[in-house]
Amino acid sequence: MAILPIKPRFEPDKLKIYRILNARMKLSDQEIKYYHNLEKRYEGEMMFDRLMENLIGERLIINDLLLMQNSTTFQSDSVIFSQDSIDLFEVKNYEGNFKYESGKFYMLSGNDIKNPLHQLERNETLLRQFLQSIGCYLPIEPHLIFMNPNFTLYQSPINKPIIYPTQLGLFMEKFNRKQSKLTIKHTKFADQVLSSHLNESPYKVLPNYRYDMLKKGPTCRRCDSFSISLIGNKFICSLCGFNDGIEQMVMRCVGEIKILFPQMNITANVIQDWCRVMECKRRISRILSRNLEVRGYGKWTYYELKI
Ligand SMILES: [Zn+2]
Repeated sequence: MAILPIKPRFEPDKLKIYRILNARMKLSDQEIKYYHNLEKRYEGEMMFDRLMENLIGERLIINDLLLMQNSTTFQSDSVIFSQDSIDLFEVKNYEGNFKYESGKFYMLSGNDIKNPLHQLERNETLLRQFLQSIGCYLPIEPHLIFMNPNFTLYQSPINKPIIYPTQLGLFMEKFNRKQSKLTIKHTKFADQVLSSHLNESPYKVLPNYRYDMLKKGPTCRRCDSFSISLIGNKFICSLCGFNDGIEQMVMRCVGEIKILFPQMNITANVIQDWCRVMECKRRISRILSRNLEVRGYGKWTYYELKI
């Protein structure tokens, strides 16, 4: 049985927002690049999580952790508490050919990129200081993991804590060979780490958008296209063939409005305007009342998520 993380990873809100905006407005080249990086990064992290499902023994897994130490915030992709160590993971989903030279990472095309080893070292130092401040002196094992099978690093250094795609299987075997039994102390430290986790607002670095700038209409849950039409009781995508029920589509629209405009009240009018294809407002109201908490009355009716 796979070990369930005590802090699971969720799709980042920032990624969800970018995905909706990318479908509904024109992003700049730079914004599209940033969005694709977010998608790619999350994809790599999910590959990593699937790999970690093979872990055995007693371990505490904390994903996507944001802590503050010395007035500096630092984000760790994964921190795993085992009996005799704490493993810190920086996960990369780089694809293609790269080169390591004089302590720097380059794409073979020539551009240099931020050295992920420096990021890992910085995180390790800050995590160590943080752990020591709560009285935890377990040694930290840092790992830089390249998940993408199409990644190659030329002139790769051999004395660095890097795991390449071809080494993942052996790495897991070795990891699991170290037996791990946890005590109440481990749990206490992990709880302290968890309770210090900061939630970063996804609304800080986003493209400028307003309600009236965004294209309205239903989009496909799988491919985000507008090539979707209501046939009978189903929305069918002519691009990828995916189909969605009416209720799912209305609730998908609610989710989009909620994440794009957290201050906006969800009303049948708003959802009708956003979905565009549903003629019958009463049908939308019925779906909203079934799934959400009804507030207000008559024409002032709006809906909130059920607690
Ligand atoms: Zn589709």
